[in-house]
Amino acid sequence: MAQDLRLYIAGEWTEGTGDDVHELISPATGEHIANVPLPSRADIDRAVAAAREAQDDFRHWSAFERAELLLRVAEMVGENVEEIARIQTLEQGKPYHAESLGDITEANQYFYNAAEDVKRLEGRVIPTSDRNKRMFTFHRPVGVWAAITPWNFPVTIPLEYVGPGLAAGNAVIVKPPEFTPWGLLKLAEAFDAAGVPKGLVSIIPGGAAIGEALVTHDGIDGIGFTGSSATGRKIISMMGIKRSIMEMSGNGPTIVTEDANIDAAAQLAVFGAYFNAGQVCCATERVIVLDAVHDEFVEHALKAAQDVRLGEPFDEVTNMGPLNNEPTAAKMDRHLADAADRGAEILTGGGRAPGFPTDLYYDFTMIDRVPEEAMVAREESFGPVLPILTAHDDADAAAMANRTHLGLQAAVFTSSLKKAFWYADRVRSGTVVINDSTDFWETFQPFGGAAGTDTGWGRGSLVEFTDPQTLVIDLGNVQ
Ligand code: NAD
Repeated sequence: MAQDLRLYIAGEWTEGTGDDVHELISPATGEHIANVPLPSRADIDRAVAAAREAQDDFRHWSAFERAELLLRVAEMVGENVEEIARIQTLEQGKPYHAESLGDITEANQYFYNAAEDVKRLEGRVIPTSDRNKRMFTFHRPVGVWAAITPWNFPVTIPLEYVGPGLAAGNAVIVKPPEFTPWGLLKLAEAFDAAGVPKGLVSIIPGGAAIGEALVTHDGIDGIGFTGSSATGRKIISMMGIKRSIMEMSGNGPTIVTEDANIDAAAQLAVFGAYFNAGQVCCATERVIVLDAVHDEFVEHALKAAQDVRLGEPFDEVTNMGPLNNEPTAAKMDRHLADAADRGAEILTGGGRAPGFPTDLYYDFTMIDRVPEEAMVAREESFGPVLPILTAHDDADAAAMANRTHLGLQAAVFTSSLKKAFWYADRVRSGTVVINDSTDFWETFQPFGGAAGTDTGWGRGSLVEFTDPQTLVIDLGNVQ
């Protein structure tokens, strides 16, 4: 029986006043698992008004009081990890044991991190030219943020905004996609239980129209967006003068040099391509292998690929579940057909796997001899595919890595420290990981793209959730 979900607005659980309901179908089972009410314009206005009112008081809480509140939220979330993870698997498709449980535990870390960080969010004392003046800076909250988030990490990514957003004294309205809001709505019960002031956090699922209503709303001061570059571009053109954190698409290259540990490189490249069925912004979207080690790499990668267990996501041995939605699966189909047309060689996989409850289960796929012009090499595929390209030497590999507009997170495998720095100095990417997967991730790592690419600008620290305020005091004649 499908569950009737409620919106979380102004600290209350409500059906809202909208006319539309989204039928949530599980990518894992194909079943209609929930009905998601979509908010009306009046519901959005109500969430914004409640956020402004709540934030007006919350901004005066001390950093230590806010930290304490976040620790209470984290404690409440901690009691519900299994249930939130179960719902996430059902609505998103990621394997429960291999990923979803750890994912929710990691998501909760954003509350712990923010609670620690805010206690050290120090301002400055600035020397003045006038001996009678004193000058200080404070980190003030921005106000009300709208967090517009994607479906690939439907709980984690909203919390990347809610944790630090609240710590810095803001209110946050989250708009998850209509097809993956349930886990987050379940988690929101922790806000009530922890005593988060009503209105400080609202959750209103929906699609583009609801996102646009928030982006253009006068009552929203900051936009936190995580999603595709195409949507990010639209948001930037609409949002006017608002603070923003924009986290967008990637096309993470992994470079395998001649002096690399080839077995480790192969295993971690395969992992980076199948984790979350490849639906990760920093997934290993392509491997650039130096000619001299190509054959050895392929041999090890084929061996590593045997460990990928595509299966029903609640099965304990499964480490890769279905794709989340048909547009993503269809994009994989297009990218693989294009690569085959251009002469690439499919080494394993190559399409949808039969015999599952939905058509979204996709075989882990490795393709060799991929030309650089192929869509699978140029664009973000967002599926379980490892395209292998070759380069003549290091200079060629670095140049290939940089022929992208999606420089989010890159990896380089080398046993030479000198070469590691050589690549880090040249690869145009928000993060360069040496000797680990492009999917390497820590909740506290500064994360964002490289200027001039379409990856956006991400987060460095809690400071980005604040406005600087300078206080100048004239003490009169102090002598
Ligand atoms: P998407 O751009 O389709 O949607 C993201 C969010 O934007 C959703 O909530 C969606 O409803 C909303 N939206 C869509 N159109 C909008 C509009 N016109 N105005 C306002 N909001 C709108 O992205 P997706 O398919 O949900 O997510 C996958 C993408 O997200 C991939 O490109 C991936 O690389 C990227 N991503 C990036 C990061 C990062 O940290 N850089 C992390 C995860 C995912």
